[in-house]
Amino acid sequence: EVRVRFAPSPTGALHIGGIRTALYNYLFARKHNGKMILRIEDTDQNRYVPGAEEYILEALKWAGIEYDEGPVIGGPYGPYRQSERKDIYAKYAQYLLDHGHAYYAFDTPEELDAMRERLKESRVASLQYNSITRMQMKNSITLSDDEVKERLASGEPYVIRLKVPRKEEVRLHDLVRGWVMVHSSAIDDKVLMKSDGMPTYHLANVVDDHLMKITHVIRGEEWLPSAPLHVLLYRFLGWEDTMPQFAHLPLLLKPDGNGKLSKRDGDKHGFPVFPISGSFPDKDGNAEIYHGFREAGYIPQAFINFLAFLGWNPGTEQEIFSIKELIDNFSIERINKSGAKFDIDKARWFNQQYLNNMSAADLAVYLKHDLDANGIAYGEIDLGKVCEILKGRITYPSDLWKESKFLFTTPHEWDEQVVQKKWNPLAVEFLTGLRERILALDSLTAESAKETLDNLLEEKGVKLGQVMQALRLAVTGSGTGPDLMKILEILGKEETALRLNNAIE
Ligand code: GLU
Repeated sequence: EVRVRFAPSPTGALHIGGIRTALYNYLFARKHNGKMILRIEDTDQNRYVPGAEEYILEALKWAGIEYDEGPVIGGPYGPYRQSERKDIYAKYAQYLLDHGHAYYAFDTPEELDAMRERLKESRVASLQYNSITRMQMKNSITLSDDEVKERLASGEPYVIRLKVPRKEEVRLHDLVRGWVMVHSSAIDDKVLMKSDGMPTYHLANVVDDHLMKITHVIRGEEWLPSAPLHVLLYRFLGWEDTMPQFAHLPLLLKPDGNGKLSKRDGDKHGFPVFPISGSFPDKDGNAEIYHGFREAGYIPQAFINFLAFLGWNPGTEQEIFSIKELIDNFSIERINKSGAKFDIDKARWFNQQYLNNMSAADLAVYLKHDLDANGIAYGEIDLGKVCEILKGRITYPSDLWKESKFLFTTPHEWDEQVVQKKWNPLAVEFLTGLRERILALDSLTAESAKETLDNLLEEKGVKLGQVMQALRLAVTGSGTGPDLMKILEILGKEETALRLNNAIE
């Protein structure tokens, strides 16, 4: 059975790359009738941000990314919050110590700094604690057994480090990138257990992926450098045979392709790079605002469709995919190797497509909400009809009320530029006549309006182009907008006549 996990750290808002990882895991799980697990990786107490877990859950919920096991809902391999699994990690750290794959290290921060300085001076390229440098440090490899016991007994702070072999080729096959080979001399003796008794990401991640029977690790490319270390851990823990397969997702790039997409790009250009808005403290404790797609007016399906294409392609021309179609078509083979440029215009386009394909009745729900929120009365006006004429003209649901405000309040100002160009004695005379004809109708529909207009044009020998914009101006206050005949129908006979009257006088 396929089992995948989304394993965010609750360190603040989930950026767009994070939720893309969640989506790809979800699609992969559903496609293979497998399970999607949500695991909260909260062992780094320095980076823990209150409220971040709630933010993550809400973002997933809004986007419609479901999971089968996780905190709150539980599951057979819980708990799903790493801070609640401390004892488990301690056990495996002990196993590694017992089997000679890990060691205690007692170096103080000052001693570690001094070591880094020495390495800098000797121009060693990578600054690390490894098979060579560890020999000059204070750890259970260099100290006698008795001394180690004494230090432990006296409660001296220590960490547990992985004993990375000196000369070894570490290989792993990544489903996106192919074979990745790293020489062990390039891998640090990473800390596995910190002095606060908490595991580091590396240990907790590997232990949990194993215990939770994860079959595929699908995560961002920034974790690729850690993968060889994880392979060593699987081997040392005796779990090589059931090691999950890896798939590292391409980076998300700035709109111009130059470098990694960041929060600042969003702030600078005024587009969201987070699923939902939130506020979290920055390094200095000041509240920072994170702008979300939800609050910017994106509907979840459009957001998901956009997200799916940030690093994956179906290999066909089709762009609009329902979630079901995404599940059916998704495959790791079609994940791109190269970085994906973040193109907000594409997101807008998806939103437009989805809004245009919604029924007028569904759109009317948004419209009604915004009219109510803005204290605009709509009386007898059929909101479904209003939405019908706005289709193709909106990018966000909030455009509905913005683009149709003129229907609900009689204009008392008219676009001055259009007045200059199109308002003249001929137009006034024509509109005066048209007003009378309209009042004489049984009811004003788009059809009867068109017929009345055409007849009068013919009788007076006037061309449509001579009066059309004046008519629009009189009725709507502006020179452009949706289908005018339909606007007349929505306004009705009395209101249309009133508006013509106001304009003519
Ligand atoms: N906790 C890591 C993160 O925040 C998870 C990385 C992984 O999926 O292994 O991205």
